[in-house]
Amino acid sequence: MAAPHAQATQEENTIRHNWTRSQVLELFNQPFNDLLFDAQVMHRRHFNPNQVQLSTLLSIKTGACPEDCKYCPQSARYDTGLEKEKLLEIDAVIEAAKAAKASGSSRFCMGAAWRSPHDRDIPKVAHMIREVKALGLETCMTLGMLSEQQADDLAAAGLDYYNHNLDTSKEFYGEVITTRTYQDRLNTLSNVRNSGMKVCAGGIVGMGEEQKDRAGLLMELANLPHHPESVPINMLVKVAGTPLADEQELDSFEFIRTIAVARLMMPKSYVRLSAGREEMNEQMQALAFMAGANSIFYCDKLLTTPNPKANSDMQLFQRLGIEPEQYQVEKTSAEQEAELHQTLLEAKTDAQFYRAS
Ligand code: SF4
Repeated sequence: MAAPHAQATQEENTIRHNWTRSQVLELFNQPFNDLLFDAQVMHRRHFNPNQVQLSTLLSIKTGACPEDCKYCPQSARYDTGLEKEKLLEIDAVIEAAKAAKASGSSRFCMGAAWRSPHDRDIPKVAHMIREVKALGLETCMTLGMLSEQQADDLAAAGLDYYNHNLDTSKEFYGEVITTRTYQDRLNTLSNVRNSGMKVCAGGIVGMGEEQKDRAGLLMELANLPHHPESVPINMLVKVAGTPLADEQELDSFEFIRTIAVARLMMPKSYVRLSAGREEMNEQMQALAFMAGANSIFYCDKLLTTPNPKANSDMQLFQRLGIEPEQYQVEKTSAEQEAELHQTLLEAKTDAQFYRAS
């Protein structure tokens, strides 16, 4: 007989967009083992449990951002000693993308510290997208808020994913950012979705929010008309000079619970163990994979903060029997047609063979 939790998971195995906060809090507050078990069962239903997707993140324009996100060393409002950099030249981006591919990444994410891109920047970033895609990598960008037209332009250049995080719950949001509204963020997500690109949206925990805010963040993400294909869950990296530099540490198990609840609420999304991994020991990372995380940033630096070295990630994967997920380049319709033609030919030959014998 199936365990009661497995049964409950089977019954709830629908893609839902109508979560209430109390339902999410119920998930959060199950006994830890029950929550992890349910999340792992859900994970196995939709993913290979021993594969993790690897993304590399490159800062293509660093610092001097006019926004006031209290966790961010790139805001021009905080003195963090960060060195500013203008938009990178295309060759530097291609070099970094080649290195990412050689070390096993399947997706290359490019981030610019902008409130939103200027229209004049779009042709240059579109060029970057085309060049990186030509290397056989999936592409992702995070450039701030996007208008409908800008989202369409990036989609036309072939951008696969656009990242724009909700950061936290609607209620706690004003404690962290005042220069753009929650609705601004939702509008950008809607422009990205309507352009046909895949959505990468998640948030940050450990910013002084309460559990109801972590539940609120996941509720907002899961109640979008389509779940984001990628859901980064970041642990706050406390950077000296930012207003959240002295924030209290979030309990590690509460972080794992957040991952597990994200997995249960968005069963088919990639849940990414993102910023803050540098401070997590191997046991905690293994628990996060058990809870349903199946994507990591795989590079020595995340925009401006440190990340575990690629080598140590590979050693951990080996010890856990995890392998990097390969990027399947989507076949063009011409390739699909050629394949179909070949199959028909083979079928015809087979039929002739059987008729003759
Ligand atoms: S998180 Fe993004 S928008 Fe906010 S300050 Fe940093 S770079 Fe600017």
